Amino acid sequence: MNAPFTAAARPRVALLATGGTIAGAGVAPGDAASAAYRSAVVPAHDLLRAVPGLQRLADLRAEQLFQIDSADFTDEHLLQLARRVAALCARDDVDGVVITHGTDTLEESAYFLHLTVKSAKPIVLTGSMRPGTALAADGPANLLHAVAVAAHPSSSGRGVLVVMNQEIHSARDVTKVNAMRLDAFASPHGALGLVVEGTPRWWRAVARPHTVDSEFDLAGMDALPLVGVVSSHGNMRRELYDAWVAAGARAIVHAGFGGGTVPEYLKPVLAELCARGIPIVRCSRIGGGLVIRNASFDDDACGSIAADDQNPPRARLLGALALTRTQDVHEMQRVFDRY
Ligand code: ASP
Repeated sequence: MNAPFTAAARPRVALLATGGTIAGAGVAPGDAASAAYRSAVVPAHDLLRAVPGLQRLADLRAEQLFQIDSADFTDEHLLQLARRVAALCARDDVDGVVITHGTDTLEESAYFLHLTVKSAKPIVLTGSMRPGTALAADGPANLLHAVAVAAHPSSSGRGVLVVMNQEIHSARDVTKVNAMRLDAFASPHGALGLVVEGTPRWWRAVARPHTVDSEFDLAGMDALPLVGVVSSHGNMRRELYDAWVAAGARAIVHAGFGGGTVPEYLKPVLAELCARGIPIVRCSRIGGGLVIRNASFDDDACGSIAADDQNPPRARLLGALALTRTQDVHEMQRVFDRY
């Protein structure tokens, strides 16, 4: 499983570039993780040219899908990205896909692909914390490692992967946890593996279904149902929830304190929304630990859903995907328990 890469013919890897800091440029060499650079300006082919040895690893074909800061990703971008990745994976002349992406919403795109693209071929996202003009830019090594993972047969069937700072993470778990450092991504249950001397080495696999075993289907998914997130703090107001309802939200993620705790004064509001057919998904604003059904909050009485260990952005996406298949809160709870 951890054998060195020895394929006679180079694997064919498609590179989809979407922008972000990995395609960023500073005003002068030395600009590191500062505000003094513009993201999403370097074209896909130039990203490849900046990495010595890349062509030895794989036969690469680059495509510029978007050229945007990942903060500008919308659900339309997600659907377009997923359709393009699915189309590439369906081709016999593509063995794997690498997506370069801004780090701010990288985990959201990765999770959406993890649950919607029906392919066992390696799909790997990467980005960088520093633009290519920085003295110690991290983008070239991240791209090299991402291609090494996408080109390696042992990466198949593991779901969508995120490769950053030498680590290989599952799209189910990974989160950006630092706004400056190179080790900006972490998974609460640990990374799946490492890229060591150009080869992936694995220690873990995700237990929850994904890709080919996922029940979600891009076919007929013209738009995602609108799901909003309300994050908890002291002195909450019901108007935040009402604003999402007015915007047309079909469910609202309540990013609660700790294990999904809801203040007493909000409990009737959440129950009222559930009764009106706007399910509340309880998760935690912390990004670690679990939200357990009926623990510290009576989900059965409220009609709400407990999000297991999913963080607020991923709970939004899973809630939206669940709503493409069902309106029933028990079915939605099954989805959150399964994925
Ligand atoms: N704002 C950038 C983006 O997400 C940050 C990055 O790529 O690191 O596109």
